[in-house]
Amino acid sequence: DFNSATKTPKNLKSREVIDVSAELEKRQDGKELINLVVIGHVDAGKSTLMGHLLFKLGKVSQKSMHKNEMESKKLGKGSFAFAWVLDETEEERARGITMDVAMTVFETKTKIVTLMDAPGHRDFIPNMIQGTSQADVAILVIDARPGEFESGFDAGGQTREHAVLARSLGVGQLIVAINKMDAVNWSKDRYDNIVLKLKTFLLKQAGFRESDVCYIPCSGLSGENLVSNASEKDLIKWYKDGCIVDLIDSFFRAPKRAIDRPFRLCISDVYKGQGSFIVAGKVESGSVQNGDKIMLMPAADAGMIKGLSTRDEPVNFVAAGDHVTASIHGVDMTHVNVGSIICDFENPIKVSTRIVARIVVFNISIPITKGFMVVYHSQNACDPATISKLVSILNKSSGEVVQKRPRCLTKHMNAVVELKFQRPVCIEKYSDNKVLGRFMLRYSGDTIAAGVVTEIK
Ligand code: GDP
Repeated sequence: DFNSATKTPKNLKSREVIDVSAELEKRQDGKELINLVVIGHVDAGKSTLMGHLLFKLGKVSQKSMHKNEMESKKLGKGSFAFAWVLDETEEERARGITMDVAMTVFETKTKIVTLMDAPGHRDFIPNMIQGTSQADVAILVIDARPGEFESGFDAGGQTREHAVLARSLGVGQLIVAINKMDAVNWSKDRYDNIVLKLKTFLLKQAGFRESDVCYIPCSGLSGENLVSNASEKDLIKWYKDGCIVDLIDSFFRAPKRAIDRPFRLCISDVYKGQGSFIVAGKVESGSVQNGDKIMLMPAADAGMIKGLSTRDEPVNFVAAGDHVTASIHGVDMTHVNVGSIICDFENPIKVSTRIVARIVVFNISIPITKGFMVVYHSQNACDPATISKLVSILNKSSGEVVQKRPRCLTKHMNAVVELKFQRPVCIEKYSDNKVLGRFMLRYSGDTIAAGVVTEIK
């Protein structure tokens, strides 16, 4: 127990000195760690594609695949069998949509990939934000069928919103899977046409760099071009490049992790344990060892972390980039929320009710005025906030102030605003932490802006 441990520190084993970078290299067998999210319009085939890919990689046993097939037949949804590899809960099965962010790990030649299957249904955008904010790279799945690409891409479709959100949340690279190519006879014209439209949008509006996006034709249902080179004769006539797994391996790069910064673990789930409780989440910076003292924020409860485990293996330490579970001792479980952050005891994250931020306004219909109520999403946290001051409007390219104290903000503007929270929230400046210093603002079910924290009041 933490309290008795601090009263008699002599009883504590002395802390091991670990060369975190060297140990990580060994643990990962020299491979890079990447966190991948799958995004796209509802029914684009995200779950089927990833489920089939995992099946082909041997991550799903024949037995559980058979079980999935039987169960989906019973419900009259035969083709959903692969999707069910990822959709775990009963509720999701009954509704036929993916709700929570499920996680799976697979390996390629040079990468260890943690896959988060983000939901595509409109009501679940906040979950999508949670999954995507933990991702480094994304696969954007597009339904190539006539009318379907268009409905996902046009106003109200999730293709655009997901792509913009992903970029704003820090996803740097994108593989665009033009899916269901079986249903359009592997047509090169259809493929080229979709790629052309997406390219303009992804580069000009979503803000991806040309070299950070690549495109691939595939079929999640037939399994074409997922883990081995294309074999479909109508496809190989015009497509000669690698399959999706090859692209994941060679195209994606792992970002540089902030291993030397203070420890921060963003909690995405909390469970009851014996005499303690278990948290699941992602380490965004620093590292921690079993037995280390920690501080839970924003509650400011001191405690101890134990039982660390990553990718289902018990480990003696975890570091930035790792998805982990851990047991927390000496902290009141009722003080822990999804969005709470477990921090270095000596150097916890700041907590505040007022911040200054630079925001980019999305395609909104009502202008943002002083006093506007929004929901602030940063990592897993989700807090009501008010835009308490419109400080200035900025020039999009130079960043210079073009107007001070504007009366309102309209679509596509860059601006500086002050935000006020109803209760203290964990805040880090973007200049100190590129991951924790980012946020999204939502209003009445729509994402209205993305921003970075420039000042903590
Ligand atoms: P999600 O909502 O994006 O996860 O989409 P699902 O994976 O649940 O798939 C939605 C529907 O599209 C299901 O009926 C699938 O069987 C079907 N589907 C998925 N991938 C393909 C594909 O490559 N080709 C065809 N023809 N249908 C597909």
